[in-house]
Amino acid sequence: MSNKKDFYKILGVEKSASAAEIKKAYHKLAMQYHPDRNPNNKEAEAKFKEAASAYEVLSDTDKRAKYDQYGHAAYENMQQGGGHHGGMDFDLNDIFNSMFNGGGRSSQRNKPSGPTPQRGQDLAKNLSISLKEAYLGVKKDITFSHYFVCSTCNGQGTPEKSGISTCQKCHGYGQVQVQQGFFAFAQPCRDCQGQGFKIKTPCKDCQGQSRRKEKEMVTVSIPKGIFQDAEVRVTGKGDAGIYGGPAGDLYLRITIEADKGFQRDGDDLVCSVMLTYPQLVFGCQINIELIDGTQESIKIPKGCPVGEKIVIPGKGFAKLKNRGAGAGNLIVITQCQIPKKLSESSKDLLKNYSEAIGTETKSEDGFISSFFKKFLG
Ligand SMILES: [Zn+2]
Ligand SMILES: [Zn+2]
Repeated sequence: MSNKKDFYKILGVEKSASAAEIKKAYHKLAMQYHPDRNPNNKEAEAKFKEAASAYEVLSDTDKRAKYDQYGHAAYENMQQGGGHHGGMDFDLNDIFNSMFNGGGRSSQRNKPSGPTPQRGQDLAKNLSISLKEAYLGVKKDITFSHYFVCSTCNGQGTPEKSGISTCQKCHGYGQVQVQQGFFAFAQPCRDCQGQGFKIKTPCKDCQGQSRRKEKEMVTVSIPKGIFQDAEVRVTGKGDAGIYGGPAGDLYLRITIEADKGFQRDGDDLVCSVMLTYPQLVFGCQINIELIDGTQESIKIPKGCPVGEKIVIPGKGFAKLKNRGAGAGNLIVITQCQIPKKLSESSKDLLKNYSEAIGTETKSEDGFISSFFKKFLG
């Protein structure tokens, strides 16, 4: 795979090359291998694409830093990431144009011949789930408002296709030049609201916008093992596209609520278990209730200290980041239950025991007063 080659080698520059050197090197290669100059030359086309990929990464400070740090894996990640957050879906023509016209992508608007299909907006929503739901996975119903393709006009904006004309004021650019003193700047055209075209008889139900806002309920499957702040993408459930463009996606950001009995530590599920002093001393077999409501029998070894971690393999969270790797562990931390009230007979037994092992016990009052006397008196 040509993709595996080192981007610096592709451009023929040193790792320490400056931005200007990278641009110059790319410019040279792009000129040399541009498809217009090498018609039907597959090798030149491959070299051209390779150089464009390399330039896309090395010309961007952030991407270059990631590439330097993580190598080619970072580049592949950027590519897989899709268009949502810093995804790197680039277009060769786009890069080429921005290189040679010296301008950004959006500063120049193409002249539309009518309504231009545009992708709908991605939408983001927060979703809170319980720790148990994160452990087991859950299906959630989410109701929200977003744009739908207008069913009256089928996303055309008008019942008759012939009713669309280019705006005369801006000649279809959607922008008009405004002169103010020495400065000229572009402003959205008011005649057509920046759309570049006018619809003679707009669809009554969407006012010619090709889509309408409606409420929808979607059922979303949250996989087991989902982690805090994860983003779950629901494809095509963002806003509908404009004039037949593809729909955006819905992103759900997951918040996991704290649980009373259990905590999460990476893929491990952690809880504590209260034991009496004799249970810790003699060891025992006890049943504990897991987060999913099932019972698990665990063995407390003889002479078990407080704070001991008893590991039950495979009863933690499903490993979502590393699918197929099974699950984390359940970690049970031992605690000692100290009784506040004791029967007289228990008290006597405990005092006898204390004497037997040679520890000193005093009444609470005595201890506290002497303790404070030391410091205050
Ligand atoms: Zn309509
Ligand atoms: Zn206009």
